[in-house]
Amino acid sequence: MFRKKSLAQFIEELKGHEHIVHWHEVEPREARLRPMPDSVDGRIQAALSKRGIKQLYTHQYSAYETVRKGEHIVAVTPTASGKTLCYNLPVLQAIAEDDSSRALYLFPTKALAQDQKSELNEIIAEMGIDIKSYTYDGDTSPAIRQLVRNAGHIVITNPDMLHSAILPHHTKWVSLFSNLKYIVIDELHTYRGVFGSHVANVIRRLKRICRFYGSSPLFICTSATIANPQELAEQLTGSPMRLIDDNGAPRGRKHFVFYNPPIVNKALNIRKSATVEVNRLAKQFLASKIQTIVFARSRVRVEIILSHLQELVKDEIGKQSIRGYRGGYLPKQRREIERGLRNGEILGVVSTNALELGVDIGQLQVCIMTGYPGSVASTWQQAGRAGRRHGEALVVMVAGNTPIDQYIVHNPEYFFDRSPESARINPENLIILVDHLRCAAYELPFKKGEEFGPLDIEDILEYLVEERVLHRSGETFYWANQSFPASEVSLRSAAQENVVIVDQSDVANVKIIGEMDRFSAMTLLHDEAIYLHEGVQYQVEKLDWVHKKAYVREVDVEYYTDANLAVKLKVLDIDRTNQRRASALHFGDVVVNAMPTIFKKIKLSTFENIGYGPIHLPEQELHTSAAWIELTETDPQLGTNILEQLLLGISNVLRHIVPVHVMCDRSDIHVVSQIRAEYTQLPTIFIYDHYPGGIGLAEEVYKRFDEIKQAAASLIRQCPCEDGCPSCIGTEIEGPNAKKMSMQLLDLL
Ligand SMILES: [Zn+2]
Repeated sequence: MFRKKSLAQFIEELKGHEHIVHWHEVEPREARLRPMPDSVDGRIQAALSKRGIKQLYTHQYSAYETVRKGEHIVAVTPTASGKTLCYNLPVLQAIAEDDSSRALYLFPTKALAQDQKSELNEIIAEMGIDIKSYTYDGDTSPAIRQLVRNAGHIVITNPDMLHSAILPHHTKWVSLFSNLKYIVIDELHTYRGVFGSHVANVIRRLKRICRFYGSSPLFICTSATIANPQELAEQLTGSPMRLIDDNGAPRGRKHFVFYNPPIVNKALNIRKSATVEVNRLAKQFLASKIQTIVFARSRVRVEIILSHLQELVKDEIGKQSIRGYRGGYLPKQRREIERGLRNGEILGVVSTNALELGVDIGQLQVCIMTGYPGSVASTWQQAGRAGRRHGEALVVMVAGNTPIDQYIVHNPEYFFDRSPESARINPENLIILVDHLRCAAYELPFKKGEEFGPLDIEDILEYLVEERVLHRSGETFYWANQSFPASEVSLRSAAQENVVIVDQSDVANVKIIGEMDRFSAMTLLHDEAIYLHEGVQYQVEKLDWVHKKAYVREVDVEYYTDANLAVKLKVLDIDRTNQRRASALHFGDVVVNAMPTIFKKIKLSTFENIGYGPIHLPEQELHTSAAWIELTETDPQLGTNILEQLLLGISNVLRHIVPVHVMCDRSDIHVVSQIRAEYTQLPTIFIYDHYPGGIGLAEEVYKRFDEIKQAAASLIRQCPCEDGCPSCIGTEIEGPNAKKMSMQLLDLL
């Protein structure tokens, strides 16, 4: 007979389990509270009190007091620590004091903005003060738009709308910009890479408009735990920041364990599927009515796990008490699921990383991850979904077959002893900068000597005059073009001439789901490519290169595609060099000429090559930054052939390791080895940013090369294969001792 177990019983049973390879405990902590400041309006105090908030956590208190003193802040707030009060309290207070005060809230996605509006409006309703808050996005009807522009105290939007709909039409927003007191940037950590570099320039434009209307708003930012919240906030806003990271929210004891499924095929080094193990684990908890969240990396996986679990437990707890949650669900559906989780009606949820962001679902007891989420920062965020303020919680990371998953479970200290990754942006990327200068010139003419952020931009303005984009009259640069520049710039990619991705899964509802720069499109959107978008698999049915359109259709397949690029690489400029024992490490500018040749189909679970096809596209040129290491001395005994194969094998490992260490997608950074590099004729491995102009990733590789190199060596050492497999150096190196030779070569670098 089935007997319900408590979480404590489960935890006891799991200790000693043979597949648990690491056990980590996070100690409980009491809440640290401060009294509600006297300056807070009585009506706000009463409304908060009704929701059970009579005191503030230390971080909420410091946020409020620091903002009141007139300083910009960035508050680091883990999941479920009451972060919204860090900005809502000072903003509501300012409006309660002065009805003309205005605030602008920026959220990275439309869905999050909608969530926050409902929460904010509930508090406002209880306060009994006439404060109007509105979302302003693509769905806002024209009738409401007028109202938002003229009478909204709090305007909630996203950076894309700010860039393309608000700033270019600033003359319609006079009341907002003249009275803007606060700019709230929530989920700051999501503004990294190309997207973050764009948003930093949008904020330069925003500050410029504010200056024009005579306001100088304060920034209130919140971020999940990353290594450099203050640096990122200062780069994004161009303003000095006060860091608030003294989190006073309470937490209970948390057990964080790594589970490595057993090996089922020794020769090929294949482990039992993580999905199967996750289903088995989750079933036990759910059957005992323990609230559990399961994370999976793709939408397809979410649906697979969900249907299995619903089937497994339908007799014990009923199908509807387990739900899926992912991008693509309607807001109403999501609200219902969030509510069900908070009040306990829903016992289990299977989610993509959509629930990493600050949606309020209360606190669950168990969190199970299907594979390593890809970065230390997002792993902690997912883990934060489990953990009651009182009582124990359990987090289980079930490792998959990928090299990175295996590396993490074999090196738990990499994860537990390490601060989360830094988020990097490069607002000075010339292509991005010029795009936004065009937008800024459209919005307001530039005066000679005017700066943009910290930059002297006169040369660029002169260039735009030559290009007849601007017209110079005396000391002023005017927009002189017929076009509307913001419509030509997408915040989510770097180069112009993007390839538009058209989803035709539903013939009645063909829609554009994204854009990609043409350099990436060559290898990711060629005919028959499997393209992942927000975790969903699509197959490219046709890439129309002339019209820059890729037509895709949703599929569910067990493989991904990997394109071979014939790459010629030329060094243009060496910025920095680090002479080493038998090698030299450089950082600088390169030009990459690339032409895709064929693509391989690679099986997801084993990395086996299961097919291939040709790609017919013209050669492309990319100017970018790179870090490269050249071997100045090599063992003469080592034949050229073997050396070339070893370099290829090491490059394969670096392709897995580098994105984890510099926090980016695998497609953001490329690794290419050459047995004889142009000019030097030396064996070289190049690691370059896959964006025109570079976004700072290769520079980080240059700085942290030793750490990356050691991680690569330990990945090879710990791979349980005999002498090379697709999870490490590949299988193409001839002769015995491939792994040993690779590690020796790495040691020389
Ligand atoms: Zn291996």
